[in-house]
Amino acid sequence: MNRAEIVSGVTSIVVKIGTNALTGENGALDHAIITALADDLARLRKDRRIYITLVSSGAIGAGMTEMGLTARPKDLPMLQAAAAVGQSLLMNHFAQALKPHGLHAGQILVTRQDFEHRLRYLNLRNCIHALHRSDSVPIINENDAVAVEEIRFGDNDLIAAHVTNLLRANVLILLSVVDGLLDDQGRVQSTVTGMDESVTAMVRPEKSARGSGGMGGKLVAAGTVRTAGEPVIIANGKTPGIVSRLLAGEPLGTLILPGARRLSARSRWIGLTARTLGSLTVDDGAKKALKNNKSLLARGITAAAGEFAQGDAVVVVDGDGGIIARGLSNYSREEVEKIKGQKTSSFKALLARDTWYEEVIHRDNLVLAQ
Ligand code: GLU
Repeated sequence: MNRAEIVSGVTSIVVKIGTNALTGENGALDHAIITALADDLARLRKDRRIYITLVSSGAIGAGMTEMGLTARPKDLPMLQAAAAVGQSLLMNHFAQALKPHGLHAGQILVTRQDFEHRLRYLNLRNCIHALHRSDSVPIINENDAVAVEEIRFGDNDLIAAHVTNLLRANVLILLSVVDGLLDDQGRVQSTVTGMDESVTAMVRPEKSARGSGGMGGKLVAAGTVRTAGEPVIIANGKTPGIVSRLLAGEPLGTLILPGARRLSARSRWIGLTARTLGSLTVDDGAKKALKNNKSLLARGITAAAGEFAQGDAVVVVDGDGGIIARGLSNYSREEVEKIKGQKTSSFKALLARDTWYEEVIHRDNLVLAQ
């Protein structure tokens, strides 16, 4: 698949822009850059009817400048405060920049939990779709004012990846201040076909002072999207008209090609987004059956770990700890302990109940690792 083919039928895109791409030399939000981005996105909406979803960083950076903080705060409450001040400035810029195009800026602040809880996840999608239907651009950021460590992504590249998967958008565009993935000679890699070691070895350690993420985080995010079956482009947000140029097929930035399978919306959530609360270790027979798209039966389970209840996501591993799949368990950890290694015919006695599930994980609720 070449670029022209990939971008020709696009109807929905997620664009993530990093702090440095939105700010000028002094670290303040640069209204000209934000206006240029809004113009670019509005054009795509109007001329090609493409639904745009924006994930924007910049809240903490903008708050720091506004509050006169020269270094990124180390203590969490000050970071939260900077985000609270900066987020409203950020949204003001976007609202002003989109208004001349007849578009509204719809702010959505999320935490990790909004993706992990199935209902909240689906509600997020409903909200984004409603914004799309009503001439609005959803603008998503982490809710840094309340998102303390345990509930934090801490990385908008990853949030953008999960949003892309949630919407089944056709492409994720990650904009920062580098031209793409660079090799050790500083040359932009035009196309990446898989996420092997030769690719991850190109990550350099340096990150910006105000944002988070860096190329390592971008590749993790890109991996999440390509596993779901969609492409990712990493490009320079300071290049004028970058998004429309990319969607016109211009060979800018680095295109990361999608993996071979395109996962359904539900499989994306089970396999890539839901938090796994435990693990099931299986024998070789079960491993083989799973790889042949069969359900996981208690017979093939040798061990269970973690604290999970019925309906929770778990990871399925082989005897060496290698990940085989993720899925939703029909049984709690305690119940699995009782039935592991056993035939279904003994469930009635073991579980002391009249109804039970044949499978510990039904194949419809199971997503094989790639
Ligand atoms: N949520 C942070 C902010 O708005 C940015 C996180 C990131 O750079 O990935 O400042």
